[in-house]
Amino acid sequence: MISQKILLCEPYLSGREWKYVKECLDSGWIATSGSFLGRFEKEVAQCVGSAHAVGVATGTAALHLALLAAGVQPEEEVLVPTITFIAPVNAIRYAGAHPVLMDVDPLNWQLDVGKVERFLREACSFHDGIVTNKNTHRRVKAILAVHLLGLCCPMDRLVPLAKEFQLKLIEDAAEGLGVRYRGRHVGTFGDIGTLSFNGNKLVSAGSGGMVLTQKRDLAERVRYLATQAKDNPDEFFHGAVGFNYRLTNLHAAVGLAQMEELEERISKKRRIAAFYEKRLGEIPGVSLMPQIAHCEPTYWLYTILLAKGERRKEVLKALHAAGIMARPLFHPIHGLPPYQGTQTFCIEHAESIYARAVCLPSSLGLDQAALEAVVACLEKALIPCRY
Ligand SMILES: *Cc1c(COP(=O)(O)O)cnc(C)c1O
Repeated sequence: MISQKILLCEPYLSGREWKYVKECLDSGWIATSGSFLGRFEKEVAQCVGSAHAVGVATGTAALHLALLAAGVQPEEEVLVPTITFIAPVNAIRYAGAHPVLMDVDPLNWQLDVGKVERFLREACSFHDGIVTNKNTHRRVKAILAVHLLGLCCPMDRLVPLAKEFQLKLIEDAAEGLGVRYRGRHVGTFGDIGTLSFNGNKLVSAGSGGMVLTQKRDLAERVRYLATQAKDNPDEFFHGAVGFNYRLTNLHAAVGLAQMEELEERISKKRRIAAFYEKRLGEIPGVSLMPQIAHCEPTYWLYTILLAKGERRKEVLKALHAAGIMARPLFHPIHGLPPYQGTQTFCIEHAESIYARAVCLPSSLGLDQAALEAVVACLEKALIPCRY
């Protein structure tokens, strides 16, 4: 047993967090206005190459507002991968719409774009710019792609498909800060994208999210809805059912400090991934994270796949016994109680990926000794005859 637990993906403070938070406290600007909000938004917009970035309270709130701003209406349908953190699927329900759970591609673990195309061509009709699900007779309004684990969806196939069927394209880039595809940052390919600054993300604000868009009207709509849809700053006149989804200056101060260190943080993640790839690639029965053409990954959460038949539960147990927090991948959404009976389309690979995946410690602060301990424990669990 080692005395200190090796955590999965914990917050890492590296820059001016203390200084900036102190500035908030000293000045009294701790709430939903103050200079760090604009600075944080500007820093993120510049870094990802988005014309607009609107800070909100969480990544989940960002998704909810992105769907509303994109015009997703109650009883419409949104295509989303079944392997994802649950937030984007919940956000579809918050908007009163229905998810259609899609398979993931075994070659990249992301939304299977080939199956999205098949669903649209075979299971839907397309007339006058409107896609209708032939089975449910509901309108399909949007695709919500999730860039999973610091990798990315192949956007050169998804963008033209969304365009052809006149669907809104929303990208959940919560796990993809810093990830570029063909040189362009994820979250900026579609109509609207979202980021999260939750504690386990590459950059954390403590809690926070951001909506990215090139379109001014969408950005304004998001800001309006996040601020209780207040039409006039001096009067309580509200033009719509809005939300209190605003970010605070305190959170923005922490987020800005971390954004200023983004390149360094990405390098740390890449060093962790390189170490795992070098050492785990030699263990029989372990597959590394996929290489995706034109993608510059950040490996937010380094994840391996065990060969079929390896006992993932026992491997996890061995890691836990050694004080190492490893985790299964996100449970396929179609197997979760609130989404049982939700429409799916041709899911063939999601369950096998889920059953074989192990997410490994990927905190920015991991030192060499901790990484060695993770590898040693996996070797012991997977090559027992050597010991
Ligand atoms: C973390 C995460 C979110 C939600 O972010 P919060 O800030 O925790 O609300 C959304 N989508 C994905 C894929 C995530 O990993």
